Amino acid sequence: MKKFFYRKSIILGSGPAGCTSAIYLARANLNPILITGNYKGGQLTSSYSIENWPGESFKISGKELMQKMLKHVKMFLKSENMIDDHINKVDFLNKPFKLFGLNNNYACDSLIISTGSSNRYLEVPNEKKFIGNGISTCATCDGFIYRNKIVAVIGGGNSAIEESLFLSKIAKEVHIIHRRKEFRAEKVLIKRLEREKENKKIFFHKNFIVRSFSGKSVIHSINLISSDGKTEKKISIDGVFIAIGKIPNTKIFSKQISLKHGYIITNKENDLNKTQTSIDGIFAAGDVADSEYRQAITAAGFGCMAAIDLIRYLENTNT
Ligand code: NAP
Repeated sequence: MKKFFYRKSIILGSGPAGCTSAIYLARANLNPILITGNYKGGQLTSSYSIENWPGESFKISGKELMQKMLKHVKMFLKSENMIDDHINKVDFLNKPFKLFGLNNNYACDSLIISTGSSNRYLEVPNEKKFIGNGISTCATCDGFIYRNKIVAVIGGGNSAIEESLFLSKIAKEVHIIHRRKEFRAEKVLIKRLEREKENKKIFFHKNFIVRSFSGKSVIHSINLISSDGKTEKKISIDGVFIAIGKIPNTKIFSKQISLKHGYIITNKENDLNKTQTSIDGIFAAGDVADSEYRQAITAAGFGCMAAIDLIRYLENTNT
């Protein structure tokens, strides 16, 4: 039987943005609920190592960092207010706002949306068939399966390079397939990759795109074509890691809140209320509203801003 919860404020999503908002709102005595979503801690929990979180000068994994953050949230938020649930429908047209979850239903006067983003896929033949059967989006989660085997990583951003470096410690060969001549990842990561490449475990396939995957019950090869369409090649592999960026998790809000390219639009240009969405009383923070920076630290800062905006909103509306 579903329970019903009403609060002045609710936070949706438990990554760095949601956790920061929760700390601020709980410390403002708003008694908020934090709905954690399917993956408590968000996508950062699958990051192998974080080196740019101020104050954590030794390597820390994304999982450890999020465990610390959630523990910090629990210092201020009552344990019954951190709820594992996944929201699949919302009603923002009338107040209080309503959220319908798999386990419970909720109503609130103000809301922070920090639902983050999900992995993007290539959408080429046989990709769907092999997801979970040779195709993965998380090297830290699935990399161990490929000890002394051959893997490919698709993409040229920070995630692709980090995943490749991680996999090079486990797999026999790591083939990086990138559709351009240059990687777009940070220089420090590219330098590290170049050094690893000297060990002859890492192979670059720059200016190549994936055409399709082949195999019977499990994947056994990947078919590539050069970006100019002139050269084709096939690589035998045991596993593939797709790291081609993210898609903001906004599907359930799309008909009720203003979006641009799938990201929630906020009042960035204004002096005040920068995290306000197109609906009064609803704020957004983190990757769900940020197509540009998408860092754990910017998401956390964004979460703090959203909490401050929400507190001011409640004060001004005397809700
Ligand atoms: P990203 O920076 O958006 O890079 C995505 C990569 O995938 C790009 O190289 C892109 O190619 C390629 N790509 C996109 N669509 C493709 C397609 N259909 N076929 C082939 N290739 C495709 O994504 P990300 O690496 O996941 O990083 C997301 C954000 O998180 C970034 O802001 C990143 O800096 C941040 N991040 C930070 C850290 C860290 O600080 N340690 C770690 C991981 C991620 P093009 O280059 O051609 O566009």
